[in-house]
Amino acid sequence: MELSRRSFLKACGLAFAGSMAFELSGESKAFALDNLKEWKLENTQEFTSICGYCAGGCGFLASVRDGKIVNVEGDPDHFVSEGGLCPKGAAEMQLEEYVDPKTGELVPNASRIYSPKVRRPGSSQWEDISWDDAMEEIARHVKDTRDATFERYDANGVEVNRTQAIAQLGGSACTIEEDYFIQKFIRELGSITLDCQARV
Ligand code: SF4
Repeated sequence: MELSRRSFLKACGLAFAGSMAFELSGESKAFALDNLKEWKLENTQEFTSICGYCAGGCGFLASVRDGKIVNVEGDPDHFVSEGGLCPKGAAEMQLEEYVDPKTGELVPNASRIYSPKVRRPGSSQWEDISWDDAMEEIARHVKDTRDATFERYDANGVEVNRTQAIAQLGGSACTIEEDYFIQKFIRELGSITLDCQARV
């Protein structure tokens, strides 16, 4: 049998109408509005962020509802990653919550740290500390250490302007730009001991 364009379109139309009639007359869940679940990203605010795992610096979109992160995915507009993430970065949402293997339910990640920590001399316990207090204490320790150990001249009378009591080690999560800034800062202090994990 020869099928003309017109008869082909007519047959398709009849088939579509038939399937719609079946869907609307039956108890199809696809058309039951009360079965619709809340959209995952409905009523969320979107924030851009950067992966905290490695120095790749891939970009994220974090969706927040009522002050809580509900979704993390690659940012297609980010100049480094253009929406792509490695498997580790793609699982970044698990820092917030993860699927309990026993129940299959999402549970908060109790290991997530929400504030800086400090372990006082002689103590075996880590305590929470505010960002302001942490910065203040670190700055004070750096200043006091530098003042107490700064050498204007070495043993031969050569001007050196250095401290050998402060060292810096860059982590792999630092970008090249961050490491560049850190080494500038640490040299300004007079430290001559600096290195980066990436080189090691
Ligand atoms: S490569 Fe992976 S771990 Fe590194 S920044 Fe990108 S997503 Fe994060």
